[in-house]
Amino acid sequence: AAPSKYLTGDIPATKEFLNKFDTFLIDCDGVLWSGEHVFDGIPQTIEFLRSQGKRTVFVTNNSTKSREEYLKKLESKDIPSGVEDIFGSAYSAAIYISRILKLPAPKNKVYVIGEAGIEHELSSENIPFIGGTDPAYRKDMDPEAWQGIADGSLLDPDVGVVLAGLDFHINYYKIAMGYQYLKRGAVFLATNLDSTLPLNKNFFPGAGSILIPLINMTGQQPLALGKPSQAMMDAVEGKFQLDRSRTCMIGDRLDTDIKFGIQGKLGGTLAVLTGVNKKEDWEKEGAVAAPAFYVDALSDLRAAAQ
Ligand code: PLP
Ligand code: CA
Repeated sequence: AAPSKYLTGDIPATKEFLNKFDTFLIDCDGVLWSGEHVFDGIPQTIEFLRSQGKRTVFVTNNSTKSREEYLKKLESKDIPSGVEDIFGSAYSAAIYISRILKLPAPKNKVYVIGEAGIEHELSSENIPFIGGTDPAYRKDMDPEAWQGIADGSLLDPDVGVVLAGLDFHINYYKIAMGYQYLKRGAVFLATNLDSTLPLNKNFFPGAGSILIPLINMTGQQPLALGKPSQAMMDAVEGKFQLDRSRTCMIGDRLDTDIKFGIQGKLGGTLAVLTGVNKKEDWEKEGAVAAPAFYVDALSDLRAAAQ
């Protein structure tokens, strides 16, 4: 592959880059902000792209927030958006379940390992679910739990899907229940498989690490609905009527964002160096993916306004 082209400070190359695309799929954490800290010039950069007639779609693997909650976060950071411009992995999973999987009732209930963002998106698609943030699932394996799981009395016979995302209250009980549903034939889905959750220049367990016990116990791999899964790309393409050749994926992470764009045969990929990966990561032997373009920070694109 051609070497990744560095755009920072190169105005003609930045203009040429912008001219190649009509739509930018923009990852959130590590590109727009790091946790609660918004990077300099981000609202102005998004406005600049829109002023150039570009469509901007925010594509995030964070399943803990729904699109509505993401909109609130974007608005609180003065980043112009609408709920229709946001595509999260919880939403991606919900529309996969309701529009592709289409399990017939009553066996269409979803057992959720995850946070409220997943619950909100399932509700928005009228999908019944159990688990999730229900305090009844944040329990110890007391004698009643061992017994009820073993004899099936604690299990809901209508569960047809196990959907796992990041769950800050993951425990032995939730895993034991998830295993039972999978063993009984439930479809195994994951919002995303990010190994790590980056926070304050450090790492915490990501959704893909939380669900390893279920993979280990069942020998099954979940179908993931977040980046780099092409199930998500297909859903994004359908919703936004993308011309893939005129679309660019912008992200900080090679194994999710850049791989997502390359596997999806998008016209281009742009890495930013404000997040997880650095230039050395794609230049080294056996790198997962290399971007076509890169900048130090997303706001460097604004140089093309001059
Ligand atoms: N998953 C969770 C739970 C997160 O909090 C984050 C970042 O905040 C991510 C995934 C990664 O999100 P993104 O795809 O926007 O980088
Ligand atoms: Ca990211």
